[in-house]
Amino acid sequence: MRRFTGNRLLVATHNRGKLEEIAHLLEPHGISVVGAAEMNLPEPPETEDSFIGNARIKAHAAAKATGLPALADDSGLSVDALGGAPGVHTADWAETGSGRDFGMAMERVWRELQATGTPAPYSARFSCTFVLAWPDGQDEVFVGEVPGRIIWPGRGDQGHGYDPIFQPDGFDVTFAQMDRWEKNRISHRGRAFENLVQAIGG
Ligand code: IMP
Repeated sequence: MRRFTGNRLLVATHNRGKLEEIAHLLEPHGISVVGAAEMNLPEPPETEDSFIGNARIKAHAAAKATGLPALADDSGLSVDALGGAPGVHTADWAETGSGRDFGMAMERVWRELQATGTPAPYSARFSCTFVLAWPDGQDEVFVGEVPGRIIWPGRGDQGHGYDPIFQPDGFDVTFAQMDRWEKNRISHRGRAFENLVQAIGG
C-alpha cells in the first residue's frame, strides 16, 4: 500500500461540515488540511452510481489540478425500505437551486418512507468511501459503514446533513445528539478513516 508522508493534505470537498470532521480526524496525526474551496478548485460532476466511483472522480480531479496528493470522500445515507435511496444522491436531495436545505431533504426521506407503507424500524446505513489519489494516477481506497435507523421527528442540533434523523444501532441518541468526538469514534467516516490512517503512516 502506498503511504502518504506529508503533513498537509488537500481535501477535495467544498462541504465545510465534512472538511471540519476530516480536519479533526487528521489533527492527532500531525496533518493539517486545505480545502478545495481555498484552492479555488471546481466541483467536478459526480456522474458515477457508486460512492467509490464518485470519490475517485473528486480525488483524481483535485490531484491532477494541483499536482498534490488529494483526499476525497463520497458518502451518503442508504435507506433499506427506499431501495438504498438517497444513496449517491444524498446531497442532491437537499439541493434547492440556491443552496442546500437538509430540513427539506430529511422531510423527503420521511415522506417517501411513509408512502411505502413499511412499518418501523426503518433500517438504514451511512457509508463513506475515502480515496487518496496521487497526481501520477495511483490511488488507495478506504471504506466504512455504520448501520442504524431513521427516526422521526429528528432530534439534536449538532453535526450536519441528515444527522438529526439517523440513530446508529446500539444508541438511543441520533448523530445530531452526539458531540463530534463521540460521532467520529463510531461513524462511517470514522471507520473509513481508521483504515486510511494506516496509509498516512499513523
Ligand atoms: P457527498 O459525499 O459530498 O456526495 O455528499 C454526501 C451527503 O451525505 C452530504 O451532503 C451529507 O448531507 C450526507 N452525509 C454524509 N455524511 C453524513 C453524516 O455524517 N451526517 C449527516 N449527513 C451526512
